[in-house]
Amino acid sequence: MNKDYDLVIVGSGAGGGTLASRLIPLAQAGAKIAILESGPHYTRDYFTQRELEMMELLWRGGAWPTKDGAITMAAGRGVGGSTMLYTGVTFRLPDDVCGEWGVPGLTAEDLRPRFERIEEEIHVIEPGPEMVNDNNRLFKEGCEKLGYQVETIRLNVKGCQQNGFCNIGCISGGKQGTLEVQIPASVQAGIDLIPNCHVARVGERSLEVTVGKTPPGTHDGPWTPGDYAVRAKRIVLSAGAPGTPALLLRSGYGERLPALGKYFTLHPALTVYGVYPEDIKNYRGYPKTYYSPQFSEQDHYYLETAFYYPFVSTKHLGLWGRELKELMKCYNRFMTQIILNHDEALESNYIGLDAKGNPEINYTISAESVESLCRAQAQSARIFFAAGCDTVIMPCADRPVFKRGEVADADLERFISSKNYLANKTPVAAAHPQGGCRMGTDPATSVTDGRGKVHGTDWLYVSDASLFPKSSHVNPYLTIMALADRVAEELVGTSSSWA
Ligand SMILES: Cc1cc2nc3c(=O)[nH]c(=O)nc-3n(C[C@H](O)[C@H](O)[C@H](O)COP(=O)(O)OP(=O)(O)OC[C@H]3O[C@@H](n4cnc5c(N)ncnc54)[C@H](O)[C@@H]3O)c2cc1C
Repeated sequence: MNKDYDLVIVGSGAGGGTLASRLIPLAQAGAKIAILESGPHYTRDYFTQRELEMMELLWRGGAWPTKDGAITMAAGRGVGGSTMLYTGVTFRLPDDVCGEWGVPGLTAEDLRPRFERIEEEIHVIEPGPEMVNDNNRLFKEGCEKLGYQVETIRLNVKGCQQNGFCNIGCISGGKQGTLEVQIPASVQAGIDLIPNCHVARVGERSLEVTVGKTPPGTHDGPWTPGDYAVRAKRIVLSAGAPGTPALLLRSGYGERLPALGKYFTLHPALTVYGVYPEDIKNYRGYPKTYYSPQFSEQDHYYLETAFYYPFVSTKHLGLWGRELKELMKCYNRFMTQIILNHDEALESNYIGLDAKGNPEINYTISAESVESLCRAQAQSARIFFAAGCDTVIMPCADRPVFKRGEVADADLERFISSKNYLANKTPVAAAHPQGGCRMGTDPATSVTDGRGKVHGTDWLYVSDASLFPKSSHVNPYLTIMALADRVAEELVGTSSSWA
């Protein structure tokens, strides 16, 4: 079956959803535009807040392993992409990081008005005191006691009902991701949304796609199941940092674009726990309202508050048997922090293809990242103890579970060290895949220009996290949206000459 469009977007997450919403004026003027999304169209009624049931919202059941099995990655598979699951932690790309990226035309001045506009559209707010739960309050107190810098996290939520389990779908629609904001606006303006539509290959101004059955309880799209050849004057790939490089590799772009798939980063993360002497209510309020940037410049990590569900917590703790069982009994007393390392973009870390042609994450954590995660665990332990915890769990400690006073403060860095880091045992995770189609000017070291146009084409664009030339340091979604805004600006500006 054939379908003809003026423009087709592959993927509906932060990049694809935002791009679609920027093309609304074209759609209203009569352009035929479609969004093709591999995953189902879930809506808030579908979300149950039950952890095990909701793992189907993620690619590979929520634990997509790197090829070496050492890191598990989380990424959303459905309309809204990973914004269906994200926490809405909102950071602008820091000006100095933008400078380091060195993409011609991409400056802090260029991004600022885009950030301002997007933040207004998706309702970015400073959380009020009613959203600050015990974990966040105690984290702030701990940082303040130690004299560590602690800042409020801005969030894009509206009418938050404080259900707590944001990362398995927001049942009240409070999280203002593309599922709630940009996609409905685009569909209302006449843009076609095709869920369950997997794009296998990119041809010359065309795509090979297969539409699958609509899973029960999710929304239908306008196309019946089957294979389609989709022709379009312009094609924008927004399949995410693993998905877009993989799609281009499957389509034979690897030879002419040697940087394709490479310089992949993912913010390796450890979730660490402290045990507070009494029950604390972290399932209420918002999971993340404070962070500490204190150690970013020197040690390359951010500390953020977090809250996770029981099953995923068992994985994060990195313990087994009786010790794990005993600790899980303290679940209602857990304080939680997430350590996010901003990793180097290395050519040797890349998205490749597995034997079936699916994206494969070839990523080896560097010695620098391991050192950073270890130094961070010592600081996290200090914060937990300062906040009042009596026990902490640090996966890279000589004894992962230790109590206040057992280790002298001055010895923490010796006690928690990289000699205890064990690939495939230390529970490193990630949710910020970036790079693989990096922007730049030289086709030998980049894949697209500064507006997302794939080198050597005039019809093929990228608009997602794969554009990042290096890590964003901070949580990435807002930067992805701002880049989508730039890509859309070019598309709208050139639309009269599309052929
Ligand atoms: C649990 C979790 C919490 C997070 N919290 C935050 C946060 O608080 N703040 C923050 O800044 N970031 C957060 N992130 C990260 C953020 O959500 C992502 O960085 C961002 O959504 C990535 O945007 P994207 O457009 O690159 O990809 P995605 O949003 O992942 O969208 C890609 C889409 O493409 C689809 N796709 C893939 N391959 C194909 C194909 N071949 N054909 C058709 N469709 C395809 C996918 O199904 C997916 O829907 C979080 C992520 C997760 C998983």
